[in-house]
Amino acid sequence: MMLTAIIRRTIMALLLLGAPALVVFWVTPQLSNYLQEDYRLWQSLAGLLAVLGMVLAALFSQWRISSALALMITLYLLVFTNGSLPGAGWFPLQLLLLTAVLTVIAVLPEWGPVSPATILTGLCVLLAVLIGFYELPPVVPSVLEAHFHTLYGLDLGLPAIVAGLGMAIVLAVQLWRPEPTRGAVLIGLVCIFPVTLTTPSLANWVVHFATAVLALWGGLLAHAWALAFIDELTGLPNRRALDYRLRRRQLAIAMVDVDHFKKFNDTWGHDAGDEVLRWVAHTLSRRSQGAKAYRYGGEEFAIVFRTAHPAKAGKHLEALRRNLYENHFKLRGPRRNRKYRGKGGGKPVRITASFGLAMARSGEAPAETMRRADAALYRAKRNGRNRVVVSE
Ligand code: GH3
Ligand code: MG
Ligand code: MG
Repeated sequence: MMLTAIIRRTIMALLLLGAPALVVFWVTPQLSNYLQEDYRLWQSLAGLLAVLGMVLAALFSQWRISSALALMITLYLLVFTNGSLPGAGWFPLQLLLLTAVLTVIAVLPEWGPVSPATILTGLCVLLAVLIGFYELPPVVPSVLEAHFHTLYGLDLGLPAIVAGLGMAIVLAVQLWRPEPTRGAVLIGLVCIFPVTLTTPSLANWVVHFATAVLALWGGLLAHAWALAFIDELTGLPNRRALDYRLRRRQLAIAMVDVDHFKKFNDTWGHDAGDEVLRWVAHTLSRRSQGAKAYRYGGEEFAIVFRTAHPAKAGKHLEALRRNLYENHFKLRGPRRNRKYRGKGGGKPVRITASFGLAMARSGEAPAETMRRADAALYRAKRNGRNRVVVSE
């Protein structure tokens, strides 16, 4: 992978984390000053939002989000029921536990209702309650009270160090394997990080908690959006996304179909076929001439252009066609899915595709442009496949 993909993700991550960091370090303190007296209404609202998110996430089988919210709600309630100000007594130990377990559940892959991650979450909730109500262990470990560094007037204690490390780990995993819900937990960690640095007031705690809850809600919504609009196998936008895109003006549409794909499946197996579809999708997703690829269904793809020049769109398609033709697909190559147990390990197989392109006529409905692109594709198939045909 593709240094450019990592660089792109890093820039995206910095932007995505920069915004909440700005909110947390600059807006939140002002907001909590403003709320100082009146935070109680917001306290209930934030709690309600968190509980609602936790229940919805569990209903949608989003266990990472529901576990994260369960952990946060526990700590949130403990602060108020114990009446102890954050930063005092056992709070640092509970905070440390919360950030450590949030890190673990962010890093673990998404799971079912009963799994090591949910059990760990349950244990952490229990432990935090024991610590809060029964003051266990009986003596505050001195390491928790130690401050290792003072940076711009902020005390770097153990909770801050654990939270900082946690954020770095989750960021690294997120850059490697991006997932909306993992990103949301990361942003949630950023939102509560300032609490580990100072002794916040209750109003401050409410505001930081609320921002983290909003981040987790964002993850829930981003996941729902991906379910609706992203094809799970290839990662390309799906047919529904294409339908939405075609409501806006488009200038050209190409239909793409992998050649003799049934034969490939029959020879090498369905799993290898899935790998081919991912590989083809990756090639087609190259962006130039404002082209955007969609998985139309099965082994068919659509490409929507923002250029009105048939020559430019045709050149892009020709480059894609040649790319597929010249770079053989490698069955079980070194970077292929290790789980795949097919025949012919590492063997290069030539995959080709046929392309039909139609330029939108003025006033023409997108469905009609697409029909012409499909007719051109049919001609490409009839004329021997592995070619680009432009509709007249
Ligand atoms: P042509 O060159 O005329 O397009 O021939 P073809 O064999 O590619 O076309 P056909 O429509 O006969 O076969 C398409 C095959 O694509 C049949 C189906 O099993 C396979 N297919 C569709 N979706 C998937 C998928 O998600 N994964 C895999 N592995 N195969 C799929
Ligand atoms: Mg087909
Ligand atoms: Mg086909």
